[in-house]
Amino acid sequence: MDTATSDSDMGSVESSCHCQEGWLSPRMKFILSTTAAVASDLIIDTGEMAEELGHVGGVYLAEHIPGDQLPRGKKSVVSWIEGFAAIFGVIHDMFEAEKIPVADALELALSQLPKNKQKLIKAYGKNGAEVDSVLEALVHGAKEEWEENEFEATHCYDNEWDALPKCAEHDLNWTLAEDMLAG
Ligand SMILES: [Zn+2]
Repeated sequence: MDTATSDSDMGSVESSCHCQEGWLSPRMKFILSTTAAVASDLIIDTGEMAEELGHVGGVYLAEHIPGDQLPRGKKSVVSWIEGFAAIFGVIHDMFEAEKIPVADALELALSQLPKNKQKLIKAYGKNGAEVDSVLEALVHGAKEEWEENEFEATHCYDNEWDALPKCAEHDLNWTLAEDMLAG
């Protein structure tokens, strides 16, 4: 979005960018949205053994959720995993709909899901796990994959990525993203 009026004098620092809400750059959005989509699948895949094991150790990104908020018991484990995955799915959908899934907006979106999905979201939060933690897990997971060069190698090989405008201030600003999303 352009701010049309400017009283800045010539030679002042160019600080306006085209980032959504002044912070979400096109590249950060791509990274976070893609990570959310991947997570919603990978959580289910890595959770297949969880019921047998009776815990969510090894479930993708579950290590970012505080241990005392994780489910106990075989049945709880399965619905927790489905809920955790479903929240990432909603995060992805919001990014794709040009909405930013900040904690409040995400909670509102989750509260509007169909009843059967809401059951899963409740199962995720049964031991006190918060929606904020999912957003933190998203940013941490994205940062890790990026820093290990996993993300670029897997998702940034085509013209879609190259065509995304860069923002020197906001691209890869993980701390800012976490603050803005999870608060
Ligand atoms: Zn920017």
